[in-house]
Amino acid sequence: MARIFCIANQKGGVGKTTTTVNLAAGLARIGKRVLVVDLDPQGNAKMGSGIDKRKLELSIYDVLLESATIAEATRRSDKAGYDVLGANRELAGAEVELVELDRRDRRLKAALAGVVSEYDFVLIDCPPSLSLLTLNGLCSAHGVIVPMQCEYFALEGLSDLVNTIKQVHANLNADLQIIGLLRVMYDPRITLQQQVSEQLKSHFGDKVFNTVIPRNVRLAEAPSYGVPGVVFDAHSKGAQAFIDFAHEMAQRIETM
Ligand code: ADP
Ligand code: MG
Repeated sequence: MARIFCIANQKGGVGKTTTTVNLAAGLARIGKRVLVVDLDPQGNAKMGSGIDKRKLELSIYDVLLESATIAEATRRSDKAGYDVLGANRELAGAEVELVELDRRDRRLKAALAGVVSEYDFVLIDCPPSLSLLTLNGLCSAHGVIVPMQCEYFALEGLSDLVNTIKQVHANLNADLQIIGLLRVMYDPRITLQQQVSEQLKSHFGDKVFNTVIPRNVRLAEAPSYGVPGVVFDAHSKGAQAFIDFAHEMAQRIETM
């Protein structure tokens, strides 16, 4: 049975999609069966996995509106080594359409029930908001992985997310927990980043992953080639860090 994780942070540009596709590729390298669910209308996870977003085809939008199953809407990324349930601009409208419907926050959960036996991991790339789409992700998941940059306002933004997760845990999904905070785009030469990193560890203890993802240009270049950094240049520092992170996640799952 798949373990399902949201990669969430309501800020944009903090490394959610990079974390999703590279963790997926890292897990695929160690033989795990992985499904990436792109819940962001920007469709970056789909593009970054080498699946063309302009092609008119079934997507997560159809799944949420129950006009397609996940099996029908999922595509294989051979280069990346995992499956992708893609998003496109249409998904932005789903937010409004879902409000009218019943079980509007449980649609993804219901759809995933049909494929959980086919995967070891489902990784959900959330949009940069605490919206109904994100709520569908949180209602489906066993846990949340929060990528964050070690910057001055990082901790402040975190409290909104932590509160939302607590509320979902209390009212909608008792399984949900924060699996961990992942420090990304880290530059150890910057004193402020070291300080925030220490603060994170003293606040959140072992909820902070041991692996640290460095700022690395190969990770930023990879999406334009339609592959995760782990596939684009497996020897780069960024890719190596994500491969380490995949091992750390696989281990954490065993003790969950
Ligand atoms: P989000 O999904 O949270 O909006 P992205 O994963 O798209 O964030 O990352 C934002 C930008 O930062 C992208 O251009 C991405 O390529 C770049 N980026 C992400 N992680 C790293 C990293 N570790 N090193 C260098 N660039 C990175
Ligand atoms: Mg993104």
